[in-house]
Amino acid sequence: MPEPAPLAGTEPLVDVHAHFLHARGGRRDWETPNRARMRAGARIGITVHIASILGTWGHTSPTYFPSPADVTLGNDEMLAIQDRDPERVRTYATVNPNDTAHALEEIARCGERGAVGVKLAASRRADDPLLDPIAAAAERRHFPILHHIWQHRTRDWPGQEISDGADLVRLALRHPRVSFILAHIGGGGDYRHTFAAVADIPNVYLDLSGSGVDRGMLDDAVRAVGARRLLWGSDITMETGLAKLRALEFAEPRLNADAMRDVRWRNAARIFPPGTLPGIPALERDGKVAAVSAR
Ligand SMILES: [Zn+2]
Repeated sequence: MPEPAPLAGTEPLVDVHAHFLHARGGRRDWETPNRARMRAGARIGITVHIASILGTWGHTSPTYFPSPADVTLGNDEMLAIQDRDPERVRTYATVNPNDTAHALEEIARCGERGAVGVKLAASRRADDPLLDPIAAAAERRHFPILHHIWQHRTRDWPGQEISDGADLVRLALRHPRVSFILAHIGGGGDYRHTFAAVADIPNVYLDLSGSGVDRGMLDDAVRAVGARRLLWGSDITMETGLAKLRALEFAEPRLNADAMRDVRWRNAARIFPPGTLPGIPALERDGKVAAVSAR
């Protein structure tokens, strides 16, 4: 039987917010969701999954506060998944900024092994000075930073340091040459607070992931930052990612085909190190195709 056409169409599509599990994360069925992600990715038409593993996902140290050993283990497992599937998977180096030396070592080590960005969970509030050396290291490697965010923090949440759009903006202003990906606008909290906080900050990008699919969320996101600062992603729930991709075509203001390309892959091509995303043409900042990356 011929392969069915991808549900999201045949244009390149980058998932900037993916996760995988591994054998030492406390789940016996860890391979099942990993396989399901790749299967769903093929069906949806995801060209490349840019993914992270947060230590042992809470099994031997807290998810949002992984121990140095678990940070290294998670990154090793993530890089192994990339090595097994180099045409479809790329890695964020996950770090815990509370241990500066270890975090910088991990960024360097994972960078040498093919990581393309940095993932910061919620180990420290986003505007804390401990994040400055991390951002400086990301800048040296042209890595974007994907930062876990609660949309509008109104109280403490168990097990995580609270960070919202306003906190991330303070960090982004200190590091204007680093691209910051504000995680999962559909992931919980008040995204309208986020949109207002980041509207005028050109180096903050919004990832559309998270299970929230509220009517009006995408329209407001487009209005706040425009298609050039939106990135498609799925996080845990890939089906809502697909739904939002379809809904985006009918957002008000309406996105034309070029703007959809920006959200699907071109913005990612512009903020990740050039030529590092398999199947995605390398772009210069002005949008001209510089070279097609080798597969
Ligand atoms: Zn996530």
